[in-house]
Amino acid sequence: MEPVRTCVGCRQRAKQNELLRAVAQGENLVFDRRAFGRGAWLHQSKNCLDLAINRFAFSRALRTKKQFDTAALAAHIEQAEMMLAQK
Ligand SMILES: [Zn+2]
Repeated sequence: MEPVRTCVGCRQRAKQNELLRAVAQGENLVFDRRAFGRGAWLHQSKNCLDLAINRFAFSRALRTKKQFDTAALAAHIEQAEMMLAQK
């Protein structure tokens, strides 16, 4: 059975390979599937990213009060959505 995770944005459950894993790298959040430590799972969707940011879901998922810079996540998703749109 494939592992299932909950998207921290829309709170829907999805197969792990359909979600991206955000981890803390200093003050920034980056997508990294293999990094050690806590991760926050997210659909590759601007909508889910915005929801997660508005709910402070990353800090909660990573068990910290820190406010992270999510610019790298937004850039990644923007690029992915652009590539999808070009197909
Ligand atoms: Zn989602």
